[in-house]
Amino acid sequence: MLLAIDKFPFWEDIRGICSDIDDTLTENAIISANTKSHLEALVRHGIKMIAVTGRSLAWSQKLIEECPVFLAIVAENGGVAITPTVGGSWEVSYFTEDEVQRKKNTQVLKEVLLQIQQSIPNAKPSLDNSGRVTDLAIDHHETHYLPPNDIIQVVDIMRQNGLQVTVSSIHINGWFGDYNKWLGTRWLFKKLYNRDLSAELNHWLYVGDSKNDEMMFEHFIHTFGVANIKDYLSELDHPPRYITRGHQGRGFVEIAQKILSHSKKS
Ligand SMILES: [Mg+2]
Repeated sequence: MLLAIDKFPFWEDIRGICSDIDDTLTENAIISANTKSHLEALVRHGIKMIAVTGRSLAWSQKLIEECPVFLAIVAENGGVAITPTVGGSWEVSYFTEDEVQRKKNTQVLKEVLLQIQQSIPNAKPSLDNSGRVTDLAIDHHETHYLPPNDIIQVVDIMRQNGLQVTVSSIHINGWFGDYNKWLGTRWLFKKLYNRDLSAELNHWLYVGDSKNDEMMFEHFIHTFGVANIKDYLSELDHPPRYITRGHQGRGFVEIAQKILSHSKKS
């Protein structure tokens, strides 16, 4: 059973938040001024913000430069990470370190896209697909609507070609490699701190809104869904433990306010 966030007893223990972006931090595709000011307040109070998204590397690089509240971003469902450098810039790392393998994967992903478009003429790559370096994204609810049967067909074609597949609130993502949002986040945490996130989960929250967050709901101890997660509950084997009243970024703000009100610095 999902609990109201008022029931969460461990606000004072929280040192960081891992959060999905689309429809978790955003409302109608943008991070509102109110959500942004709460993100900034969290950072001022020492809370680490790590974004974990299915979005492309290029899209995520633009976000981290325009919205420097994020300590780091796991992009493309764990395939690539953006972390800060000592010099104050950003560094890009790939979960699959072998460059030759990545080039081979890119070529096959192009072939899979052609196969999808030939079988399902209505299927279109996502707007940010050209900025992707490790995966393929088909739009189903961002700027182009794809009916459920077509989504199932896209997923089938990706799987038949050996891709890992996940469906977010806006895209169908497919990639080669044994990683996902959870393994990508652990990998990033190790890069940032040289420690195992699994041993520190009592200090971190995960916030999400969709099926591609399920892996995080399964592995994190403290898991939160914004209210729009209700649309997907029947499809989740691992739902979040807590749910906000507000949808999208407004739900995230409820969580931020709870942390800030329990912060020793507030
Ligand atoms: Mg989302």
